[in-house]
Amino acid sequence: MEQQLRSEQISVRLLIFMFVIILSVLLIAIPQIVHSYQEYVKLHRSLVDIQNLRIFAETSNKISRERAPSNKAMAGSAEELPTRIKELQEYRISVNQQIDLTVRTLQQAGFPALAEQVDVQLRKDLDFGRKQVDAYIATPKQARKAIAMDQAIRNMFRAWDSCRAILQQLIIDSKRKNSEVTDYASIVLILADLRDQAGRVASNIMAPLSFAEPIPEYNKIRSLQTQEQVKYLWRLMDTIQPENLKTPKYLELHDQVKRRFIDQGLPIVNQLIEQSENNQPYALQANQVTDAMVDKFTSIVDLQSYLLEMHSLEAQRQMQSAQRQFFLILLISVLLLTVAFFTMVYTRKKLFEPLIQAQHMIEELSHIYERDHVDTVALKNKETHNLADAIHKLKAMLKQRDILEFQLKNIANTDSLSGVSNRLGLEAYLKNALAKPDQFQKLSLVVVDIDNFKSVNDQYGHILGDLVIVEIAQCLKVNISQSDLIVRFGGDEFLILIANSERNWIMQIAESILADVSRLQIDLPASSEKLKVSVSIGVATGAENWEDLFNQADESLFKAKAQGRNKVVG
Ligand code: GH3
Ligand code: MG
Repeated sequence: MEQQLRSEQISVRLLIFMFVIILSVLLIAIPQIVHSYQEYVKLHRSLVDIQNLRIFAETSNKISRERAPSNKAMAGSAEELPTRIKELQEYRISVNQQIDLTVRTLQQAGFPALAEQVDVQLRKDLDFGRKQVDAYIATPKQARKAIAMDQAIRNMFRAWDSCRAILQQLIIDSKRKNSEVTDYASIVLILADLRDQAGRVASNIMAPLSFAEPIPEYNKIRSLQTQEQVKYLWRLMDTIQPENLKTPKYLELHDQVKRRFIDQGLPIVNQLIEQSENNQPYALQANQVTDAMVDKFTSIVDLQSYLLEMHSLEAQRQMQSAQRQFFLILLISVLLLTVAFFTMVYTRKKLFEPLIQAQHMIEELSHIYERDHVDTVALKNKETHNLADAIHKLKAMLKQRDILEFQLKNIANTDSLSGVSNRLGLEAYLKNALAKPDQFQKLSLVVVDIDNFKSVNDQYGHILGDLVIVEIAQCLKVNISQSDLIVRFGGDEFLILIANSERNWIMQIAESILADVSRLQIDLPASSEKLKVSVSIGVATGAENWEDLFNQADESLFKAKAQGRNKVVG
């Protein structure tokens, strides 16, 4: 139960870690995603604003340009009139379509108030101007007056003024929604103004011109004022346009406006004013002036279109780049989260769960082992808190078991009376020696047999006989090193196996054993006399195999016995 709870705790902790890691990844990723998305939305907004501006600039230019067919219809001769009226009607239809498009675009772009203003106010002002124009056209030729025509022209100016106010409001609203709409929007407005004011330069003298009357002071002043305004707007635009955006194309179009309109268009009007002042006949008729001037304005519209196109392309490029960046960040974040999630799931499944399972198994094992084999209080009391503890505990238990096994093996291989090895010990030694080739070449065998031991038993009993065996085994132990093996082979017969030693040294050991045994004085029970014993020793050094070595040593022992005992033969 406790184990179950502990692994549950680990599982809960793992889940918390996983949650924290995923949360951290999310905390890093979400602001990045949100930021890049906002950037994308902002740039998308800029693009929409530019499109709105483009459409509205087109509307404003068209309304401004409507004055050309209007003036031509008003100034045209009786024969030209049907054609001029047809041209004017067609142009008005295209202007109306452009206004419809503007209303729809502004509504879709989130400028409903401006859309309403265009739909209602602009249309109203334009209609008012058009009605004035139509009323003038409908007036019989002889009843027409220059002042009425000038009035109609100025009412058309009002329609454009209304349009300009909405364009200005659109730019202000766009800037409020998105700071990206900056200088270029102002330049677009200036160019729209420039286009219109440029038209007004000629329109302001159009009425007296069409009546071939001298230009009244009022019209002259308006025309000259408009010219000054045109020149001012021209300089202002070039100041506002950032130097880095003055591309070769911009410079070319800019130069064209200067050459065609400022240098060629304005002098046409000034020449007419001069002719009026000098009471000279006009060099050009009203409609010829209109045609000449309209042609000069196209360069202004071209420059405006180019600037809008350039900014539109730039905004499109930036938006696409922001879109790519957004998707890239999104993709990386999703990838990162997926990798983090799967790594954690994988780690949990393949590493932690098997480890927890291993801990349970080891703990269970240690409990089983504890119950069945080990009765060590210290081990039993040791709590297992984790896998390392469990392994440590199991290790300690296994060590304990090894010691016990070793002790058991030793007991099995040892002669209980003499304390030296028994035949099992010899067998284990030989089994080990057989694995190594040439082992018997370097092995020496010393066989020690107690002389006349049967009669010791017979005379003093088995207990004393056992004592003799113990004493002699002791003599053997003191004469050989720890690495050598002493085996009690038979009742009163011992084998000594010595590896890697010279024959002379073995003989010396055998002699030493013989001398030590002969010096033994064993107490006899209920007697002050001492029992003296001797041994016979056979020595063999090096052989092909164990049997040969044993036979040689046994032969030597036989010789020692035959030569009267208490002897070493080798
Ligand atoms: P030899 O000099 O030819 O070896 O004469 P021996 O009397 O020693 O002859 P043998 O080797 O035949 O006798 C061995 C005797 O050792 C026989 C047996 O009674 C005695 N013996 C064997 N095992 C033990 C033992 O564990 N304790 C005692 N006390 N005597 C044993
Ligand atoms: Mg004997």
